[in-house]
Amino acid sequence: MARITFLGAAGTVTGSKYLVEADGKKLLVDCGLFEGRRDLKQRNWEPLPVNPATIDWVLLTHAHIDHTGYLPRLLRDGFRGPIYSNAATRELCALLLPDSAHLQEEDAAYAARKGFSRHKPPLPFYTVAESQAALARFHDIPRAGSFTISPQFSVRPHDAGHILGSSWLELTITENGRQTLVVFSGDLGRYDQPILKNPESPARADFLLCESTYGDRDHPSGSVLDQLADIVSQTAKHGGAVVIPAFAVGRTQTLLYYLRQLEEEQRIPRLPMYLDSPMAINVTDLYERHHEDHSLEFSREEGQGNHDPLNVHEVHMTRSVQESKNINDVVAPCVILSASGMATGGRVMHHLARRLPDPRSAVLLVGYQAEGTGGRALLEGAKYLHIHGEEVPVRAQIHEIGQLSAHAGKSELLRWLSGFQAPPRQTFLVHGEPTALNSFRSTIQDQFRWQVAIPEHQQSVDLAL
Ligand SMILES: [Zn+2]
Repeated sequence: MARITFLGAAGTVTGSKYLVEADGKKLLVDCGLFEGRRDLKQRNWEPLPVNPATIDWVLLTHAHIDHTGYLPRLLRDGFRGPIYSNAATRELCALLLPDSAHLQEEDAAYAARKGFSRHKPPLPFYTVAESQAALARFHDIPRAGSFTISPQFSVRPHDAGHILGSSWLELTITENGRQTLVVFSGDLGRYDQPILKNPESPARADFLLCESTYGDRDHPSGSVLDQLADIVSQTAKHGGAVVIPAFAVGRTQTLLYYLRQLEEEQRIPRLPMYLDSPMAINVTDLYERHHEDHSLEFSREEGQGNHDPLNVHEVHMTRSVQESKNINDVVAPCVILSASGMATGGRVMHHLARRLPDPRSAVLLVGYQAEGTGGRALLEGAKYLHIHGEEVPVRAQIHEIGQLSAHAGKSELLRWLSGFQAPPRQTFLVHGEPTALNSFRSTIQDQFRWQVAIPEHQQSVDLAL
């Protein structure tokens, strides 16, 4: 009988990994890294309960590190099969995985110099070379339509509207001539937003795994442009810097799109903006190549000036460590966008260390801030932030624009679920913190009368019809 084991994102929002077994074959859906709380990150270093050498295939919903960042380790520990994703996800992973490895190497080297790591010597979780080895295993599957993995597994991806290439998956398991349909929501995006399309809705499933990041609340209404204009122009007026922790792919493009619009409408001054990322490829090109996911129109004709909707007028892309450090000397006002998005590590930590003590400056948080992250501490009013072994006083203004989230809010999750023509036999709520999971379970039970379970870490469930 087919079986699923929850190897991550069970009772928490990171580490997505679901092992599906049928007819002696093993398929891993998503292969994410745990992030945030120390005890969660520690799980990354513990061996999986399944030998990676016995896993036949990996199938990805989207490129975010909490869904893909464990891949280099899976290979190091013996996985030798193909990794299936669509082309946009593969191209994003080709940016994100080496970038994540590079940041880990930089952080480990920095920790070694300063002597503050718990590992002696400090180690990156994986290296750039290991991330390249993982990329060599990627195989493209179609953006839509059915794809056969093996006699046991076939998959049909649908647009999830969360980031470029993001999909929810209909997995058909065939065993002893019987078919079982499992829907994996992956991460679901928003409705009626600029750039990305609306999530498609599923019609049926025997078993459903649904993300619950915002299962207990909706995003605030109110205009993103008004808030962003306010924060940027106020900070500029005081002569401060706006530091925005953001993934270099995804939310960063949304922010640049809005900032560009505010510049055009002269609602903010034209400021130097620093996109501090070691990625060597212009992400905008990815959006130009993958039109299937978004509604942007690019016009970059010669002699027409900068008509790139994803770039502000004065943008500086920094790749090397030295360029990144030089931003410390940039006299405000300016805007600095840098990863990681939850202030858990990476270059944004240097910018926070430099700008947080300055009451004229501002930090703008734009995505989900998981438990135990620097971003969550700032939102909760921390007076100090622990950065690179030092206590950095928080005197800068802390702002949040919840509407910029790439995740569906509660009503958007319910809108997605309302597409089902019959209740799934069993719904599993994943990818949420306990409060969100419990609240969303009650809402679904009240509204739809479905069978809803909240699986525990490493729990296995038979997919019995
Ligand atoms: Zn995601």
